[in-house]
Amino acid sequence: MPVVKDIFIALSNNKFMNESAKRMGPALGANKVVAGVDIDSTIETVEKLNMKGISCTLDNLGEFVTSRQEALEAQQNIVEIMRRNYNANIDAHVSIKLTQLGLNIDREFAYQNTREILLKAHEYGNTFVNIDAEKFEDLVGITEIIDRLKGEFKNVGTVIQAYLYDSMNIMEKYSDVRLRLVKGAYKEASHIAYQTKEEIDQNYIKLIERRLLTAKAFTSIATHDHNIINHVKQFVKDNNIDRNSFEFQMLFGFRTDYAYQIASEGYNFCMYVPFGQDWFGYFMRRLAERPQNINLMLLDIFNKKNKGKIAFGATLLAGVSILIVGGISLLKKK
Ligand SMILES: Cc1cc2nc3c(=O)[nH]c(=O)nc-3n(C[C@H](O)[C@H](O)[C@H](O)COP(=O)(O)OP(=O)(O)OC[C@H]3O[C@@H](n4cnc5c(N)ncnc54)[C@H](O)[C@@H]3O)c2cc1C
Repeated sequence: MPVVKDIFIALSNNKFMNESAKRMGPALGANKVVAGVDIDSTIETVEKLNMKGISCTLDNLGEFVTSRQEALEAQQNIVEIMRRNYNANIDAHVSIKLTQLGLNIDREFAYQNTREILLKAHEYGNTFVNIDAEKFEDLVGITEIIDRLKGEFKNVGTVIQAYLYDSMNIMEKYSDVRLRLVKGAYKEASHIAYQTKEEIDQNYIKLIERRLLTAKAFTSIATHDHNIINHVKQFVKDNNIDRNSFEFQMLFGFRTDYAYQIASEGYNFCMYVPFGQDWFGYFMRRLAERPQNINLMLLDIFNKKNKGKIAFGATLLAGVSILIVGGISLLKKK
């Protein structure tokens, strides 16, 4: 349902909704997919996942960073979670977003902020730092910063979005860099990106196969799609690909039992664990990917413990979303 996807993507980009939701704290079921609002609860989550043989990549949530002060605060949060991970001796690294570090304020400033994170990562056990892929409009800036950093640091990697027509070329350019391969989470125009699930899946498989056969660096295959995961398992078996050259990744809170199952089969597995107050944009993008995730909202709204202001705000937001989704379904049936 592309229209539903567009609505959730539009909500994810709505600054007012993001700001209001931030004040409210994780609601609408977002608490199921956000590990915690603070570092302590996030570390507890990581410890539990580590016990299941699952490593973690931690995402300090944050959208609409428009001032240097906000970007510096984000940088400090990221450094602090790396320090706490190191002290707690847990198996976790960070995933960062360059827009949160000031990419759209001043590219040089964002570069310096990111470099500072990498210097600290070196201090805290030379932990890995992943630079997430964002909207296409940010790709040039992100690529420029990665190209500068990869000359200086070995512990930096990034993400390839299979929906981009140019994804194979971008991936080939980073054959010696650790990469996460994803389908792509944003809404991109048809002159830039594939639009149908079939085309995206097809290109995703092409990228995965090429990467696993040729890369000189580690690969993360980040998907909840059992068809893709089964295909990869068979492909690595048929081609004698070392299981230690890659891992599977999923987002915290989705298909958890399936994640445990894959880890228990002896595959490397890493969970992407978001934490912090700024949950709305992240959560709306998850609903855009899979409108069935609205179940998370409904379960939360009908939870008796949710009373008062949070429940009111949550119900209001959920009501708006459900009405939109319901309305569109009805229109489509007519
Ligand atoms: C670890 C991780 C990191 C990511 N990082 C980025 C990034 O940096 N930049 C970016 O643009 N995007 C990122 N993404 C998002 C990604 O691009 C996709 O938007 C997202 O993963 C949805 O696509 P999918 O591969 O899971 O499969 P989909 O095409 O969404 O789903 C395929 C099928 O899998 C099954 N399925 C999926 N989810 C569920 C579920 N919850 N329960 C039951 N069945 C399910 C269904 O049968 C569905 O039809 C990341 C995703 C992950 C997992």
